Amino acid sequence: MIDLHCHSTISDGVLPPADLVRHAHGRGIRILSLTDHDDLGGLEEAREVAESLGMHFINGVEISVLWHERTVHIVGLRIDPQHAPLREGLAAMREGRILRAEKIAEELAKSGIHDALQGAYRYSQGNIISRAHFARYLVELGHAKNTASVFKRYLVKGKPGYVRHEWASLATALEWIHGSGGIAVLAHPGRYDMGKQLLKQLIEEFIQLGGRGIEVVTGSHRPEQFNTFAQIAQQYQLLSSLGSDYHGKGQSYIDMGSLPSLPTNCQPIWHDWPEYHQVSQQ
Ligand code: AMP
Ligand code: MN
Ligand code: MN
Ligand code: MN
Repeated sequence: MIDLHCHSTISDGVLPPADLVRHAHGRGIRILSLTDHDDLGGLEEAREVAESLGMHFINGVEISVLWHERTVHIVGLRIDPQHAPLREGLAAMREGRILRAEKIAEELAKSGIHDALQGAYRYSQGNIISRAHFARYLVELGHAKNTASVFKRYLVKGKPGYVRHEWASLATALEWIHGSGGIAVLAHPGRYDMGKQLLKQLIEEFIQLGGRGIEVVTGSHRPEQFNTFAQIAQQYQLLSSLGSDYHGKGQSYIDMGSLPSLPTNCQPIWHDWPEYHQVSQQ
């Protein structure tokens, strides 16, 4: 079984990279990619543990992009974590996250929620600071029962704690990924707040910039969206990807190892990967 999208404590997951890999192994995953948001810091540890367990490990990252005033996520697979423009670009994004976090805390304070910056940093433990960490602090304060319900009432456009943020451009994110020898995948296309026409424009621009993959089966798609995006992948001759987007128990839509296979009309993004051919020969 394969999982090409998940998060560790290096970004906003709750398991450290080593524990995440052990969890994936226990759930039957044999080819795994760790795709932390805007950070490559977990790849070495994850690879070491994965290989010690006889799994195949794929270097990955999930890059935050601002496109037409919307946040879009691009997963980079098979990237080279030593590629300087990618490393430096992501380091700058992490700096930007620190400034955004200060603004988020100021916005929350205007709504009577104080000390959110310290609260969120307690959850991020010196790693990347994310809205997910603010969400966990808001749950702790009793403002919502879980992180998913926080995002219905806070931290999103029009709600307390929202801050617009200038992420990487689509072109820049793809340049970093391709420059490092990776493949770019449009993450969870069913989750964006955009109509059909704008989504079509996003996909066409993504392809024009050299994007090759699209997530068809992900933990954050509803089952009927698997077929919708399988058809879109076929229509645009995009390679299909599959990943849980696991962030830890109680944080995610679905556990690892419980997603269905790709619909049969999909060309899997791993079809020509040596790791896949090794696993299927076992
Ligand atoms: P950031 O990249 O800091 O803006 O944080 C975005 C992260 O917050 C996502 O990667 C998710 O982990 C989490 N998130 C965003 N929206 C939701 C939601 N509706 N339910 C649960 N988690 C969410
Ligand atoms: Mn996340
Ligand atoms: Mn995402
Ligand atoms: Mn993700």
